[in-house]
Amino acid sequence: MPDIKQDNRTDLARFRPEAVEKSGLQVTYFHGLCKSCGECIVKCPVKCISWSDTELGQTGEKAIVIDLDKCIGCETCEVICPDHAIEINDTRRQKK
Ligand code: SF4
Ligand code: SF4
Repeated sequence: MPDIKQDNRTDLARFRPEAVEKSGLQVTYFHGLCKSCGECIVKCPVKCISWSDTELGQTGEKAIVIDLDKCIGCETCEVICPDHAIEINDTRRQKK
């Protein structure tokens, strides 16, 4: 019988997660899931997502970069991303 939890962890690593955190706001971006559709760049209300000059997404097109200094943790990008490539964890909100 396979260990399902172990399998899930292995899958997540395969999607090349990159987590950054600042002042209780954590953003995890999965390079291996992003298809570079640009939806998050268009829909971010504070325009803090842009194309990366150096990193690539799943399709070999440009990856995205999130400017944590401007991010308000609204989770719009997480909700609208068709590939579940962004995860927002705002511990400031959880403490309220
Ligand atoms: S959480 Fe909101 S503000 Fe932050 S990058 Fe995503 S859409 Fe933009
Ligand atoms: S919406 Fe998702 S798949 Fe599209 S560019 Fe943003 S992170 Fe990548």
